[in-house]
Amino acid sequence: MSESRSDAASPRAYQIIARCRELALYSEVAGETTRTFLAPSTHSVHALLSGWMKAAGMQVRVDAAGNLRGVLAGEWPNAPRILIGSHLDTVAQAGAFDGILGVVLGVALVEELTARSHTATTFDPKLPFTIEVIGFSDEEGVRFGKPFLGSLALIGELDAATLLLTDRNGVSVADAIRDFGLDPAELPAAIVDKSACAYLEFHIEQGPVLESEGLSLGVVDTIAGQTRMQFIFTGQANHAGTTPMGAQRRDALAAAAQWIVAVEQYATECAGLVATVGKVETLGGASNVIAGNVVATLDVRHALDKVRRSAIAHFINAAQTAATARGMTVTHSTSLDQTAVDLDSDLTALLADAATRAGHAAHWMISGAGHDAMIVARRVPSAMLFLRTAAGLSHHPDENVLPVDVEAALATGLEFLQILRDDKAMLKRFIALTSQLKQEDNHA
Ligand SMILES: [Zn+2]
Repeated sequence: MSESRSDAASPRAYQIIARCRELALYSEVAGETTRTFLAPSTHSVHALLSGWMKAAGMQVRVDAAGNLRGVLAGEWPNAPRILIGSHLDTVAQAGAFDGILGVVLGVALVEELTARSHTATTFDPKLPFTIEVIGFSDEEGVRFGKPFLGSLALIGELDAATLLLTDRNGVSVADAIRDFGLDPAELPAAIVDKSACAYLEFHIEQGPVLESEGLSLGVVDTIAGQTRMQFIFTGQANHAGTTPMGAQRRDALAAAAQWIVAVEQYATECAGLVATVGKVETLGGASNVIAGNVVATLDVRHALDKVRRSAIAHFINAAQTAATARGMTVTHSTSLDQTAVDLDSDLTALLADAATRAGHAAHWMISGAGHDAMIVARRVPSAMLFLRTAAGLSHHPDENVLPVDVEAALATGLEFLQILRDDKAMLKRFIALTSQLKQEDNHA
């Protein structure tokens, strides 16, 4: 998809895209965008973003988890705080927009507010809230195998066990923080201010739905729950030439194949369910040997936990059936069981209202991928806006967004802030909800 200039996008939208592409140049691997938790190139990303933040009138700091935090102070001290954020780390050989776009859009929103306060045409320059733009240091979890290190620090859940995790070079999370020039002892100061009452995250959809519907934006109401499992089918390795077909063969790969097709069929017939066997390995496999042991992964996601759980029960049964039919055994284990997260219904409705006011259809969506919002939502009412992703392609160097869609997101963000500025009762409701979430957290 080209980025040819269209009348519907402002210079600001083109600037946002150019900034994302500029930030993508900072990488730990030459010639591609690979930037894991607190890689040295993160210093350059912080420097660029800090410059833009400061020019927009924000105070900038890097917290002890390496999150970049820019604050535009509201009208009075301790004004309710609206957080806008996403992540600055990437997968290996990433595109230029996953995560970064949400941070750059947050900065652009503040720039728009500041610019409008100078011209003071339509927007009241006085803000009854503080805006904090956050660039999280880790969401993808590439370096330490555990995602969301940045947002966990924000809500005070980056625990001692996590600080001890090591990367493939034996460097711990705590050492990575020190190597970056920060002090893990100061992590408590990374915890979000008590005044925080709402979190907004802009993110590319990373899928084909919005493009197939011909829409710029999607409003996320739920982040799907997710289970990751491993199945081991154990049959009998034997000579491929001398073992006749039929009952004398105990082919673990044939059993796994039957199960994989059963998984696909069930998920196809169950609305909203996605189930994937992404990796299959034949242990000691060879072209002239009947497979004796097969290890297969399973990834299952759905917005309703009960649907996901019953699907898993079905998949375990199907594996047993496939194994038993061939006189074999199968075992399974679970490495991740993440429940679905409903985003705040009122804040999400407000975001949909903002999209409509900005002239865009508010298309409700479920996020099949995990995002920082699912962590922040434990402590602060949260909402998420998806932007159409060209060809649904993400975690790939060709990842792209359209200027008109960036413009749509920017306009929606401005309307979102304007509604909160005008509707004091709404703002108060989110403040009350935040303290309620914190109390529930303390009692949990
Ligand atoms: Zn992301």
